Amino acid sequence: MDYTENILFTIGKTPLVKLNKVLGEDFPALVVAKIESFNPGNSVKDRMALKMVEDAEKQGLLKPGGTIIEGTSGNTGMGLALVAIVKGYSCIFVTNDKQSKEKCDILRALGAKVIVCPTHVKATDPRSYYSVSKRLAKEIPNSWYVNQYDNLSNRQAHYESTAPEIWQQTGGKFTHFVVGAGTGGTITGCGKYFKEQNKDIQVIGVDTYGSILKEYHETGEIHLENAYSYLTEGIGEDIIPENYDMAYIDHFEKVTDKDGAIFARKLAKEEGIFAGYSAGSAIAALYQMKSKFTKEDIVVVLLHDHGSRYVGKIYNDDWMRQQGWL
Ligand code: PMP
Repeated sequence: MDYTENILFTIGKTPLVKLNKVLGEDFPALVVAKIESFNPGNSVKDRMALKMVEDAEKQGLLKPGGTIIEGTSGNTGMGLALVAIVKGYSCIFVTNDKQSKEKCDILRALGAKVIVCPTHVKATDPRSYYSVSKRLAKEIPNSWYVNQYDNLSNRQAHYESTAPEIWQQTGGKFTHFVVGAGTGGTITGCGKYFKEQNKDIQVIGVDTYGSILKEYHETGEIHLENAYSYLTEGIGEDIIPENYDMAYIDHFEKVTDKDGAIFARKLAKEEGIFAGYSAGSAIAALYQMKSKFTKEDIVVVLLHDHGSRYVGKIYNDDWMRQQGWL
């Protein structure tokens, strides 16, 4: 019989699929997509959730029967919830009222407690989700605050799992790696591994308008006055998380909220790949950079999560019309 001991053993070994139409038939390079929605929690984040928990166990930060606390409503919460179920931990996720009800319901379905805080308060306000998660971690005995932004097990997971898998699937023959960047875990972990194997591989981060990542990469300066809120989910930041090492990143390409949405919808309709908003942004970034590629290039683009999380937004025609994008 061919089975795994539990659901966590199904994390990883996701497929690499050639893109045939979405970039247009005259796109010069071969482009293959690493489809991370094949993970059990439907995103790449399962990999880092497992690694962060296992490292916290080893370091004695998380003890049997403990409570995992994180500020998330999304993919990291889903990954942590799966790990917690198998390993016997409780989960409390603190999120804000900007997030859809469905996201909170999914986490509750997996046994997590979800606390919803107001969005429009300062981070220092005691009601903000930052303050609430920190306070809970102090108050609840035997609890552990994950902090995916500054927890370096995040990028290490991609160095140990995502990147070697891509290397093995391609025989190391690719020339460019294109990936959405948020906490910096995926791009830095993979970028470090790839540059150690072949320093010529170009590592390209996908950023949004309203985020400070590209500007910080190019100038080393943080100008919070240039940050503003945007609709794209999962990528871009208004802080520089500890998980970044900009030395492994060659370029950031910014994509608009509109283009990310349009290309996610094209990816679904033209390739049959139903992926998330940031996946659309990654494809849009490639399209924008078309003139920089040649026939000899081989591009790996990583698609972070599944389209089902976005049926109320980019895959909903009314929502698209409200934005004026349809
Ligand atoms: N896309 C999606 C949908 C995500 O949830 C995330 C995680 N924030 C990213 C992209 C960016 O990945 P990372 O945090 O590893 O930079």
